[in-house]
This record gives sequence, C-alpha cells and structure tokens, in this order.
Amino acid sequence: MNKLLILVVEDDKPVRNLICTTLKAHDYRYVEAPTGEAAIMEATSHNPEVILLDLGLPDMDGVELIHKIRAWSMAPIIVISARSEDSDKIQALDAGADDYLTKPFSVEELLARLRVTQRRLSMMEGERLGETAFVNGDLRIDYAARCAYMKGEEMHLTPIEYKLLCLLAQNTGKVLTHTFITQKVWGNGWENDIASLRVFMATLRKKLESAPDSPQFIQTHIGVGYRMIKVG
Ligand code: CA
Repeated sequence: MNKLLILVVEDDKPVRNLICTTLKAHDYRYVEAPTGEAAIMEATSHNPEVILLDLGLPDMDGVELIHKIRAWSMAPIIVISARSEDSDKIQALDAGADDYLTKPFSVEELLARLRVTQRRLSMMEGERLGETAFVNGDLRIDYAARCAYMKGEEMHLTPIEYKLLCLLAQNTGKVLTHTFITQKVWGNGWENDIASLRVFMATLRKKLESAPDSPQFIQTHIGVGYRMIKVG
C-alpha cells in the first residue's frame, strides 16, 4: 500500500503530537495544522489524501471548515470531537465528513479508522475506473442489470431496498446520517421519516446478513445513521 498523506488539524498540542507519533510509527506521512486557517493553507498546498479534523478549533468552527474544504476537495475527512453530542457529529457528517472519532480515543481506534478510509479510497479509485459492478465479500451488485447477488444467488430486493443498498455500497466506509439516506432514497420532505428508514433497513438486513443481530455488512451508529463496512 502507498503511504497516505494525512493532514492533522488539532489545536491541542499533546493530542496532535500523539496522533503524529502514531502516524509516523505506522508509516503514514503527515502535515500538521493547529488552526483552521493553517488547515486551509496546508490542504491547498499539500493536497492531503485524508484529513483528521478536530471540531473545536480556536479560530474557526469545524463544521464551517468542512464546508470550505468540501468546496474543492473530496479527500475523506475524519472528525475528532470532544463533544459527545450526536448533533455535532451529525452536522459534521452532513457537511461532508466521512467518519468520526470521539475523544478520548485509543491509538488502535485511530488506526482502524484510517484502514477503513484507505479501503474507501481504493474503492473510490475503482469507481473512477468505471467499474460496473460492486463487490464486497459475498455481496455483488451488478449496476447495469440492477441486481444484487449474495454468494452468487440473486437477492430479491424491493426497489427501495435496492436503492438503499446501492447508496450504502457507493459510500462504503462512510457513515451516512439518517437525513442523508432518507433524502437520497425518498427525496426532500421525507428527511424526518426515520421510522420508515428503520423498517426498510431491517428488511434489507434480513436479506443481506446471515446473522442480522450481528451484522457483517451494515453497521448501525445509534442516533446518527448507518455505514457499509468493507468485508475481508
Ligand atoms: Ca480543540
């Protein structure tokens, strides 16, 4: 695997040092920024492949910074938040962040998120190459035929379930909020219908997961949303 270049945006020096030491020890390259202004400068001059972003910065609101970065960069953003409130995470995810870590986090947790992100980047690369099928473990989606297969068997999905599955598949590794999913699947005006989303997600999981109680493909983020995991 190539060495990812990571931009570390964090004003708390001990936390920033811990992150950078960890990255260095695991062969990642990195640049550091202690403020939002510095983050924009480093992001534009180095074009990092992944951005680790503390939401509580001295000079700028983290969510505002995500909006600014997203205006020109699609680099995955992993938000680091000391605030445990779901609403902050949701705001950051809806602004275009891909994942989040809640402080205090362990080094293993950070490395696991980076591996998820690296797999997501490889899949995005596949998309750019114009792949017409999606493969994740035993799951295969044939976009042209509008069919999904599990272990080679066609899954009998309703149109909504198929749309839901494709949306999660196309965003593998990224946490999608309830609002984002309901808007994409049902359109505007339905973004608060989380009860319906839960029902469709339950029926999709029954068809997708061999053990729906310990799902392999779709992870639940309670109060936030769902994420498809790259299997194997
Ligand atoms: Ca901070």
